[in-house]
Amino acid sequence: MRVKVTLACTECKQRNYTTVKNKKNNADRLEMKKYCPFCHKHTLHKETK
Ligand SMILES: [Zn+2]
Repeated sequence: MRVKVTLACTECKQRNYTTVKNKKNNADRLEMKKYCPFCHKHTLHKETK
């Protein structure tokens, strides 16, 4: 049930993180506040396909 997903910054669209999510708990797209090294601040990161 665990799938690897990529998290992309919603401001600069850079893909900064990969993580593993549990499909059972997170059927929808993941959204996480993470530090973006391109924006030099914390931004919302969303799961990409
Ligand atoms: Zn960014």
